[in-house]
Amino acid sequence: MKNIFLVLFLILFYNLSFSQKYEMSTAFENNGYQKVVALGEQILENESGDYKVFLLLGKAYNALNQFEKALPLLRKANEYAEIEWQYAAAYVEIMEAYYALGLKDKAKRYYNKGIHVRGTKSVQRKFQKLALLFGYDNVFNDWITVTTFNFVFHFEDIEHIGDIDNYIEKRIAAFKKINSFYKAALPKEIDFFVWKSEGVAQKKFKKFLGFTNPKYCVSHNKLSQTVGHEIAHTISYWFDKNNNRNRFVNEGIGVYFDCSETNRLDAAKEIINYQRKINKNFKSYDIRVFWTHPYEYPERIMYPIAGAFVEMLAHHNQNKFLELTKDQSYESAQDIYGRGGLDRLISNFNEILNEY
Ligand SMILES: [Zn+2]
Repeated sequence: MKNIFLVLFLILFYNLSFSQKYEMSTAFENNGYQKVVALGEQILENESGDYKVFLLLGKAYNALNQFEKALPLLRKANEYAEIEWQYAAAYVEIMEAYYALGLKDKAKRYYNKGIHVRGTKSVQRKFQKLALLFGYDNVFNDWITVTTFNFVFHFEDIEHIGDIDNYIEKRIAAFKKINSFYKAALPKEIDFFVWKSEGVAQKKFKKFLGFTNPKYCVSHNKLSQTVGHEIAHTISYWFDKNNNRNRFVNEGIGVYFDCSETNRLDAAKEIINYQRKINKNFKSYDIRVFWTHPYEYPERIMYPIAGAFVEMLAHHNQNKFLELTKDQSYESAQDIYGRGGLDRLISNFNEILNEY
């Protein structure tokens, strides 16, 4: 009789654990990383864990920017791996976590391991994407690296930059200025890539320069960019690692902190004057539309308007603006400024923006 209970218990336990692992996979596919962590940690409390549990848990911690928590779990996944694709999946995640923490020699070691194993299609894609982003691709072979305060600069061609000391000093000063506002703790220095061959970069990344991937403190820049824009993306991201970004506010932050001498309100009004010139039916822009439909307008229209609006918000109330940096959604702004308060701020700004 005792044995029957034991068998029943084991079947039940096995099914429970199986369904928890299934739930973990589903949660991961739906970007429910907190849920993956809760389920995974619960499984590990009751049993010793296996490849899948360790890998999913490690991946979820990586996704949540908790790279230190991810690493021991991913190394466990690596230990439990048996076949090639399992090793590949562990390597790419370990490479990601080490790089994100600024442990680049270790990250490079896992990149070198990853080259020799064949992962699933999605793992291969992630591996190649990160290798390019981190500067491991062969295209970076002859680049020049300059390590300095808060930055590692990577230059494709120094001659092309002109006064290199001036270029570097300006970025160091911009970092200082922007971070005197945010006082953010970055997990590593900023890897700041400066391209000469914009066409090659565009082909490789399948998008235009410049851009920043703040999760890894990496920017890929063209020469003609403002000093502060990409730096502001990284610093504002690490003001709170659990941030929720919105394209309109995020790009507004980039423009507001670009360290240029531009009059941002004039630049925004210029966009509207131009629209009036080319389109007789054009009436006005509404900040609410930019904010709630952040992909509605192209860069050249949205960026200057976002920059002017963010400047107004930052001057209006610095603490509230810092809160907004953490969660940039329209709903979060309603909580921070109050519904009536936000409506007034936007209506006033719309009026100034659209006045003749
Ligand atoms: Zn930007």
